[in-house]
Amino acid sequence: MSKKVLIIGSGLGGLTTALRLARRGYKVEMVEKAGQPGGRLNQIKKDGFTFDMGPTFFSMTYEFKDFVKDAEIDMPFKFKELKTLYAVSFRGSDKKYFIHKNIDRLAKEFEAIEPDFKRKMGKFLRSGGSFFHDVEDKILKRNYNHFLDYLLAMTTVHPKYLPKLWRSVWDELNQYFDSREVKEIFSLVAFFLGATPFDTPAIYTLLSYTELVHDGYHNVEGGMYRIVEGLTDEMKKKNIKIHYNTEIVDFNEENGQLKSFIDQNGKEWIADLYVVNSDAAFFRGNVLKRPSFSEEKLDKMRWSLAPFTLYLGIDRKIDDVPLHNYFLGDNFEEYSKKVFKSSVTFEKPYYYLNVVSRSDPNSAPEGMDALFVLCPVPDLRFKPDWTDRDEIAANIISDLSERIKVDLSRHIVSQTIMTPVEWRDAFNLYKGSGLGLGHDLKQIGSFRPKNFDEKFGNIFYVGASTLPGTGLPMAVISSKLVVERITKKYGLLHA
Ligand SMILES: Cc1cc2nc3c(=O)[nH]c(=O)nc-3n(C[C@H](O)[C@H](O)[C@H](O)COP(=O)(O)OP(=O)(O)OC[C@H]3O[C@@H](n4cnc5c(N)ncnc54)[C@H](O)[C@@H]3O)c2cc1C
Repeated sequence: MSKKVLIIGSGLGGLTTALRLARRGYKVEMVEKAGQPGGRLNQIKKDGFTFDMGPTFFSMTYEFKDFVKDAEIDMPFKFKELKTLYAVSFRGSDKKYFIHKNIDRLAKEFEAIEPDFKRKMGKFLRSGGSFFHDVEDKILKRNYNHFLDYLLAMTTVHPKYLPKLWRSVWDELNQYFDSREVKEIFSLVAFFLGATPFDTPAIYTLLSYTELVHDGYHNVEGGMYRIVEGLTDEMKKKNIKIHYNTEIVDFNEENGQLKSFIDQNGKEWIADLYVVNSDAAFFRGNVLKRPSFSEEKLDKMRWSLAPFTLYLGIDRKIDDVPLHNYFLGDNFEEYSKKVFKSSVTFEKPYYYLNVVSRSDPNSAPEGMDALFVLCPVPDLRFKPDWTDRDEIAANIISDLSERIKVDLSRHIVSQTIMTPVEWRDAFNLYKGSGLGLGHDLKQIGSFRPKNFDEKFGNIFYVGASTLPGTGLPMAVISSKLVVERITKKYGLLHA
């Protein structure tokens, strides 16, 4: 007999779980706090411009291919591989370093500042690559019932990788490269996990391998939100309904099982089982009132960067600026050690710029450009007050204008700012943390909030703060893991 599943949240983890479960005969329904689907993978339409709200590119496309095969649907969007991943520049210099996937082109970028770059980079990438292939199936893409499972899995990893556990990304780079610029550029992968290279374990240098060698980076034709549109179109075909503007705030229990969830209007939502796509740590504390996830306990956990994002429409084109750009300063170590923990001043910010309309011309009116800026900032534990948002935005715009040599302030026709406050309120992101729980050794594997509930046998979790971690491909893997767990318990239920 078919079982009814209620999925709470329509982020990428929730959407892919819905389609995987529907294919297995489960009757799926979803509730979503926001007015449209996607969670952080969302979209803003304003003043004739269209912006992707969060993610702008991603790796491991084969996880999406594996997903569509599993859900028995056609790929509902098209990837575009980037030959040049991004450009990086440092304050005070006009020089741009282009990060090409082709190792010979890449070596040319750095030959002047890092002698023997090609050989050193080859060695660095081989080390990251062999580690990635050793752990991908054995550690990353698997469920853990308890710590012992995890420990046993860890013992199968080759001991030569052990030092990567206690070295930082920065220490690892120091072993291969001498140039400050090279080390700063290739440590940016730590920021993709929402932390700094100084407090991220060296195991994550495998991300350099995934971006430069393995599957590379991809955009989506028509913008990243095509992923969500494509998935929700498939869901309509399978009669999976999403109820928007519906936030789960409470619950009822009966005989040790969860009986129902309750939304903000007091309506009861009843199903046989529940999958929570809301942040797996925050939901346990905020809705299920678990003492081990109280605000005091959550505050002590390591949370990833908070985003300060700007969505700018300008009445001209900036054709000289590459698609994806990192604008770094001249005090990398000092800045990155401070930026997540204290109210640094943002007069000299570090930020990422995406010229959205370069890859998706329909996102801006003719002759104009749509720009997305992401500046990592402290979360609301460290900087609760964002009334200086306009001043911070003006600083970033002024710095960017100087660096691209276009006075943007004279050309902005549309401006939207999202501080950690808006990110928190939009998707229930704890204290505005953009990527969810951090990825230090105490918060990965069996130490991460589990994808099954500690108390109620009929609640499961999917998304960035449960297994395996943050980012779009991880959300897709997370749905695979939770569905594996559910079908192990409830079986394949073809109606
Ligand atoms: C600024 C930014 C840039 C990023 N860039 C990239 C990138 O370039 N590449 C990449 O791979 N990743 C990127 N990421 C990370 C990526 O967006 C996330 O890891 C991924 O989208 C998380 O998906 P999720 O399944 O955890 O769901 P989420 O996106 O967290 O969605 C959860 C959903 O649950 C809803 N919800 C929460 N609580 C409740 C409740 N109580 N009741 C009902 N609904 C609820 C929320 O409204 C939300 O829609 C970025 C993230 C941010 C913030």
